[in-house]
Amino acid sequence: MSDTVDTVIVGAGIAGLSAALFLARAGRSTIVFDGGPTRIETVSQVREYVGFDAMTPAEILGAAREEATRYGAVIRHARVERIVPLDDGRFKIEVDDRSLTARTVVLATGIVDELPPISGVREAWGDDLRVCPCFDGHEVRNGKFVVFGIGARLAHMAAWVRMWSSDVTVVSRHDFTGVEAERLDLLGIRIRNDEVAGLVHEGDRLVAVTTADGDTIPANATWVALHSRAASDLAASLCEVDELGFAKTDAGGATSRAGIFAIGNADEPWAHLAQAAASGTTVGPVVTMYLLERMVEELRLAKAA
Ligand SMILES: Cc1cc2nc3c(=O)[nH]c(=O)nc-3n(C[C@H](O)[C@H](O)[C@H](O)COP(=O)(O)OP(=O)(O)OC[C@H]3O[C@@H](n4cnc5c(N)ncnc54)[C@H](O)[C@@H]3O)c2cc1C
Repeated sequence: MSDTVDTVIVGAGIAGLSAALFLARAGRSTIVFDGGPTRIETVSQVREYVGFDAMTPAEILGAAREEATRYGAVIRHARVERIVPLDDGRFKIEVDDRSLTARTVVLATGIVDELPPISGVREAWGDDLRVCPCFDGHEVRNGKFVVFGIGARLAHMAAWVRMWSSDVTVVSRHDFTGVEAERLDLLGIRIRNDEVAGLVHEGDRLVAVTTADGDTIPANATWVALHSRAASDLAASLCEVDELGFAKTDAGGATSRAGIFAIGNADEPWAHLAQAAASGTTVGPVVTMYLLERMVEELRLAKAA
């Protein structure tokens, strides 16, 4: 592969690999850089991805990597440090101690979930500590649920998980509004004015949470409302972003800077695997069309010269 490629994709999660598959099959020279790990690799089984139910992330991402490379995409384990726009519309990609040039860049860098600094939380993340019942609410349905985390999203999270179990306790010192408190009360959701201090396991089974006030609340599933932010500041250095650092894009994944695209969680923090994969499929033709238009422009200039 020469030092100028058609597309550099930053991030080899499902979004980046999906874009890589399209671009490689469209004959575009494509290199994917990934600092790893991807967000889904915290779970042991993937849910709500039709056709892939209960498969492991390694199986799904492994197959996606194999498909993309089969058609010529190159995947490198390395972190992209900086992307510099050049005068001719291309981009200098700085990765490790080398650099290369790309005509287009697809940012598929994902998000970071900011976990609260509570004992046992990091170990339980993606397992007994859950982020959304859309994924694995079914696996713990009708269980004893404890909900905690940042105040602004707590009322929504507690009401949402209530669809999977009627036994829901919110543990928080958050000052709920009258409307929120009424909704939670109507749904039979208990509010404990306290803070979760730790998760209690018997063997590998979650049995309770402990609280700052010294109580123990039985639980076999915990749900945390948390802040997320863009996993990389590359978008912020290149194009318009929102207050959390997520690129602002149009429906095709194009950002405010020509030649820079953003997909997956880097563009839409709520995207599940299916939506992240679809965003890669969407951006593939958009990037290819952009490259086609650049080619026409260059040929016209060359002919006129
Ligand atoms: C606990 C949990 C459980 C989940 N369960 C499910 C589920 O069951 N089903 C489902 O559909 N979804 C699930 N999701 C959501 C799923 O993880 C995301 O939809 C998916 O990972 C988004 O894919 P992505 O490619 O956009 O980002 P990611 O998978 O996060 O991939 C982004 C990649 O970019 C890399 N990267 C970032 N910056 C750089 C850089 N500068 N240079 C190089 N590489 C970089 C990262 O290291 C990472 O490998 C879950 C999420 C969580 C947190």
